[in-house]
Amino acid sequence: MDSSGVLTREMIRQKALALGFSDCGFAPVESPGEEMNFFREWLALGMNGEMHYMEKYTDLRESPALLLPDVRTMVMLSVNYYPGETGWAGEDYRLSRYALGEDYHEVIRKKLAQLLSAIRETDAQVEGRCFVDSGPVMEKAWAQKAGLGWIGKNGLLITRHSGSWVFLAVMLMNRVVEYDRPALPRCGTCDRCIKACPTGAIVSPGWVDARKCISYLTIEKRGAFDGLVPEWKSWIFGCDACQDVCPWNKKAKITSVQEFLPRKEITDMSSEAWEKLTPEKFRELFRKSAVKRTKPEGLIRNIKWVKGE
Ligand code: SF4
Ligand code: SF4
Repeated sequence: MDSSGVLTREMIRQKALALGFSDCGFAPVESPGEEMNFFREWLALGMNGEMHYMEKYTDLRESPALLLPDVRTMVMLSVNYYPGETGWAGEDYRLSRYALGEDYHEVIRKKLAQLLSAIRETDAQVEGRCFVDSGPVMEKAWAQKAGLGWIGKNGLLITRHSGSWVFLAVMLMNRVVEYDRPALPRCGTCDRCIKACPTGAIVSPGWVDARKCISYLTIEKRGAFDGLVPEWKSWIFGCDACQDVCPWNKKAKITSVQEFLPRKEITDMSSEAWEKLTPEKFRELFRKSAVKRTKPEGLIRNIKWVKGE
């Protein structure tokens, strides 16, 4: 145990890396600024589709200070989940890479709790509040401010170490440490993601219209796909098309987090097995998986759509 009681940026960073986080950066608590204006405009244009929960708690998104008394630092964390090139038994059906292992919410939540405990070994009075893709926090904006990466033209955070194959997490903390410099955008003149999007969902650089995005449609949208053109090929849960082409993603190493490696029972599913998927099989396959979110009826709907039924 470190008895100095003085927390430093490097100390927290080392603790985070030891727990399997890929990067850790620090930003002062202020308004997300430009990103908040962007988000409000995106909502006003209806680009969130049926994700009405995003319209709530804008006050908290704007002011993280409302989430934790005396919060001073946004500790931003990333975890590389890149599982490598995945072999599929069923050629016709694909799930986004992030969904092939265990549910990242659970895996990262545990790591965040361990990180807070490790920090408290140095300073027992530290208060922290953690979120992984679950709280009213502008994660990508804060991650950019904390130097983890920049928001790419496909709307995802692009890191230098693993491109966009990362999960983001945040710990609000009531302590000041040395802050990192914000990351600068490095997309340059590249527009590969815009060109590669099968449905034209990236309506302009950085603007993803969820109503056209396969990720939203296959996961968040409820009910029938009335009036849509079946342009999304084999994606039945999420879509990696705008990530597969990103030059920054070519550098990613395979994740060191075992829980994120593809589960064989998923990648071994034949096309025929997907087409015969029952609610019982769904529950067995996706018991500890983020795919649970779409529920059996959602995934079966997506399979039928891809099949052209
Ligand atoms: S996830 Fe797929 S549909 Fe959505 S913006 Fe990226 S390429 Fe387009
Ligand atoms: S594909 Fe190009 S434009 Fe799109 S996010 Fe990657 S670097 Fe940026």
